[in-house]
Amino acid sequence: MMDKEATSDSPAASRYARQMRYAPIGTTGQQALGERSAVVVGVGALGSVIAQHLVRSGIGRIRLIDRDIVEFSNLHRQVLFTEDDARRMMPKAEAAAIRLRAANAAPFIEPIATELNAYHAEQLLADADIIVDGTDNFTARYLINEVSVKHQIPWIYGGAVGGSGMCTSIIPGETPCFRCLFPAPPAAGTVDTCETAGVISPIIDIIGSLQAAEAMKLLTGNKAAMNRGLIQFDVWRSQWMNIQTTQSKRADCPVCARRQFEWLDSDTAAHEAAAALCGRRTVQITPPRPLQIPLTQLADRLSHAVQLELTPFLLRLTLVDRDYTLIVFPDGRALVQGTDDLSVAKQIYNDLIGT
Ligand SMILES: [Zn+2]
Repeated sequence: MMDKEATSDSPAASRYARQMRYAPIGTTGQQALGERSAVVVGVGALGSVIAQHLVRSGIGRIRLIDRDIVEFSNLHRQVLFTEDDARRMMPKAEAAAIRLRAANAAPFIEPIATELNAYHAEQLLADADIIVDGTDNFTARYLINEVSVKHQIPWIYGGAVGGSGMCTSIIPGETPCFRCLFPAPPAAGTVDTCETAGVISPIIDIIGSLQAAEAMKLLTGNKAAMNRGLIQFDVWRSQWMNIQTTQSKRADCPVCARRQFEWLDSDTAAHEAAAALCGRRTVQITPPRPLQIPLTQLADRLSHAVQLELTPFLLRLTLVDRDYTLIVFPDGRALVQGTDDLSVAKQIYNDLIGT
């Protein structure tokens, strides 16, 4: 890591000079940051902000996990992406990595275009110094929380919808865990989502920046400075508060008290999974086993039946007469666009790709 050492006459020293002049970081904190790693799960709106701060500030390694591709409806708030990314249907993890490498070539940036699931969550998360949440769903957060508690890795929860958002630092052994604070996922239809309430970009920047700051505190050796409360911020009403959560630790919490890891131990990954993506008229199909043939071969097999477009990252199939589009990734995972109906999506997938 010689090239990243922030000695007084190194390129790193001038690059990070203003950051190192900030007393809580200094030369020591900068060096520590250059030797540490983060995983950002979800590189959409919040994840773009989080990853950009961590890469520009000189983190050593960062893994970017995202299941989705860039679309035009993302561009008003997902600051790493361009119209060209949307036209080219770039996976968000890959497009983000390109943009971030252009901003800072030093960190090792590892894009992974997949959905976090029980099957590989520990493999993808457990080697990091910190996990930062850029997702929009409770399944991913419960998985992150269980890896965090099981492997003693701090993580930073964040969420935003409309003009407000919240975030908190989960530090195993010190703070309540996510399951203490949110014992069960909200029932469908009971909470606002980006689809029902919309979302404006300034709240994304605020919450993502608060999350990035928490990560920087930990990674520069300033764990004691991390916020132990739950911050709620409303950018439209100009209100915010930091709610103390120390009393929220539950003696009967299945995760941090009993160490039962229900989400990690679930066998859902062994079955075909279908999930509607919030408000997108899109269903994600995750097959139980990876695709056994390369996308080029699948394209050859289907070329007589559908319109198709092959990129280095995915295969897009258009069923012209039925208004459906399938985006197939190399591992066989697919986004079926044009429907919210899980059984319709599964049928289309099985007809084209097989079971
Ligand atoms: Zn707990």
